[in-house]
This record gives sequence, C-alpha cells and structure tokens, in this order.
Amino acid sequence: GQVLLRVENLVKWFPITRGIIFTRTIGYVHAVDGVSFEIRRGETLGLVGESGCGKSTVGRTILQLHRPTRGRVIFDGVDLTQLKGGELRRMRRRMQIIFQDPYASLNPRMTVGQIIAEPLEIHGIARGKEARERVEELLRLVGLNPVFADRYPHEFSGGQRQRIGIARALALQPDFIVCDEPISALDVSIQAQIVNLLQELQERFHLTYLFIAHDLAMVRHISDRVAVMYLGKIVELADRIELYENPLHPYTQALLSAVPVPDPAVEARRQRIILRGEVPSPVNPPSGCRFHPRCPIAQEICKRVEPEWREVRPGHWVACHLAE
Ligand code: SF4
Ligand code: MG
Repeated sequence: GQVLLRVENLVKWFPITRGIIFTRTIGYVHAVDGVSFEIRRGETLGLVGESGCGKSTVGRTILQLHRPTRGRVIFDGVDLTQLKGGELRRMRRRMQIIFQDPYASLNPRMTVGQIIAEPLEIHGIARGKEARERVEELLRLVGLNPVFADRYPHEFSGGQRQRIGIARALALQPDFIVCDEPISALDVSIQAQIVNLLQELQERFHLTYLFIAHDLAMVRHISDRVAVMYLGKIVELADRIELYENPLHPYTQALLSAVPVPDPAVEARRQRIILRGEVPSPVNPPSGCRFHPRCPIAQEICKRVEPEWREVRPGHWVACHLAE
C-alpha cells in the first residue's frame, strides 16, 4: 500500500532543569533517540516496549502534542514539524489519539454527548441538533446505546468508557489514530472486544493505526507489522508473522519468551530468557548498543559501536551486530 506516515530520524529529548527562578538545564531525558519507520494506508503498526522506553512519546510527537527535538514527521506528504497554527490544526483533524485510561481522558463534568460533540464544535463542523445526531450515530458505531449521550463517564465500565473514547476519536473522521495502550487497563475478557471493535472500524473507515502496547501478546492480533522499542530506539521491525516466528534481536527474543503459548506441550519445552538488571536511565543511555548491559550474548564490540539499523531480509529490520 501507499505510505500515509513517514517518521524520519525522530528525536525527542526532555530537558531536566534545576532551580525555580533561575533555571538551568542539567541534562536531557533521551525519550526518543532517532526513530524511523513508515506506516502504510489502512495498516496497523504495533509498537511494543517496556514502560519508559519512549513509545508513548513517539505517538505524541507524531501528533505534534510534543514538538520533536529533531527529525521529520511526514503525514500524507506534508512535514508536520514545519506547520504551525491553522495549518497544523487542519492536518491534526485527520489524526486522533485513544488513551490507555479512558476515564482520566474523559471530563467527568461533561455528559458523554458533550464529550463526543466537543471536537465537532471546536472545528465548527456541527452544533446543536446536527451535532446531537452525529453523537448518536457515533455511539451506535462503537456499540453503545444512543441514550447514553445524556449520562456521565462515571456511570460506565472501563470497556464502555474506552468505547466512548473511541467514539470521540472518530468524531472528526480521521485517517490515522494513535492507539496508546488502549487495552492495557482493561480486563482480559474485555480486551478482545475492544481489539475487535478497532479492527471493524479500521475496515469500515479505512483507518491507519499506530497501536502501542507494553507486551507482544497485546499487539499480536491487530498488527500487520510490529516494531520493538528499547530505551528510545527501535531495535527490530518486521511483518507480524516474521517477527513472532523468527525474532532476530535478543531483546525481542526475551520479550517473546515471556509470552505464554496456548499449547501446553510447547509451553513446557520453552526456555524463558531472563534479562539481567533493570532498564538503564534514559538520561545517560549506555554506549554502543544500548542493550549491551542486559544482553545475554553481548560481545566486546557491543560496548563500543552502535549497531546499524539494517534490513537483513526483505522488510525485516534489526539493530544488532550479531543478527545473521
Ligand atoms: Fe546484544 Fe550486541 Fe546485539 Fe546489542 S548488538 S543486542 S549487545 S549482541
Ligand atoms: Mg505509555
């Protein structure tokens, strides 16, 4: 398919400051440190990594909710990092976000109808009776009863609130949605329902998703391709089946070894790869390969030389000196 979004060498550092009146910058959190990928129209790219690896920052920086430190974000041929004001707002209408905690992202003092209608009113698309009709249509689309429009977020379960968040994201008929851990806070029984809903909506409206999650099991069924992030960098990216069947980066292999396999015979024979230590601080990332202090197969070169991001077979990218 055609490329909808291209992220080129994206960098986002957050300054760490000291002092209250005379502040000085004493360092930077290297949240995202040179990330490149493409997402095709109608595709879902899964983005996986442990908390703090920078995956949410990638999502927010794409949407220009954070302005990047460096790099380009090209959406439908336009570099968003160069846009301001009205031009940026017009492009941003086509890009929405669904959050992990729908409750925290829904204003408790607004009715569901007001919450969903708000983007329509802000962008001058519909108000009054017309907005109300659109709200009811959106509620039906996400599998909720239109009478819910007059109720408040606290009256709903986690799964229902996530449906409300999805209805709000759909209000402006976007092309692209960042799904930032939309199922992580939900009961396992509800997770599949939300994934199914997102897939139905994707087909119906030809949506493109960046689907962020903290483990590989969560993105397995929804992703066309999967990218694995570690400490501000993408370390591996491949088609879903290729990534799960033939992971090449030791970090991906470790993450996959923690995903339970349904077949008990296979499960019993499996080797868990236990990583040493904790994720290092993103303020002073390790030299060479950032994964070297935890990598079970690290060599001398790994401490000194950063591995190149290379395509080892068609569509399968990895950053590791020892892959193949
Ligand atoms: Fe491990 Fe070295 Fe590969 Fe990094 S480059 S993942 S340290 S083997
Ligand atoms: Mg996050």
